[in-house]
Amino acid sequence: MKTAHLSTGRDFPIGKVLCLGRNYAEHIRELGNETPEAPVIFIKPASSIIGEGEAIVIPPYSNDCHHEAELALLIGRRGKDIPADRAMEHIAGYGVGIDLTLRDIQGELKKKGLPWEIAKGFDTACPLSAFVEASRVANPQNLRILLTVNGRKRQDGTTSMMIHRIPAIVSHMSTRFTLEPGDVILTGTPAGVSRIVSGDRVVAEIPGVATLRVSVS
Ligand code: ZN
Repeated sequence: MKTAHLSTGRDFPIGKVLCLGRNYAEHIRELGNETPEAPVIFIKPASSIIGEGEAIVIPPYSNDCHHEAELALLIGRRGKDIPADRAMEHIAGYGVGIDLTLRDIQGELKKKGLPWEIAKGFDTACPLSAFVEASRVANPQNLRILLTVNGRKRQDGTTSMMIHRIPAIVSHMSTRFTLEPGDVILTGTPAGVSRIVSGDRVVAEIPGVATLRVSVS
């Protein structure tokens, strides 16, 4: 079982990882995607999670694994059809996650109109930091998101540029899936996604919130 560590000392067994696609305009442009009318949602299984210091294993059926650094929300309270103005009460903590994506496989699946799980949910596809308790993050909608590969900056964005804001994301997702304590939401990636290869050292950081260091085996 995978566990989320919160700065209060409380651990949450992780249920599901709900992910939001296409939530930053520049990232939509860099992939040549259309801006969706409704939020794009997909799920990573808890088995895809790895933690600080662990290694990403790129599956042999892909030759193009991309990093996507994202603000991660840890759900602390159960809810269904949560109104946006109550959504923040359901967030126990904030962290940083990397939504690893097999871009070549995802491209083939997209073309055929097939689900993305094989490209998004493979073992090690979800590196996740520890979480800092929500009360210690003054404004989660104004956080810098950085990602470096071998010390070189690849992503440098801010959560102020999200298309769908955090309360709207939590509210909308809860209309599709009951949110439970230990669920994690990844809120989409800013621009700068690119390929990682064996031997790379990847650091994702949200200054003041979390840092996550992983390698590629
Ligand atoms: Zn993503």
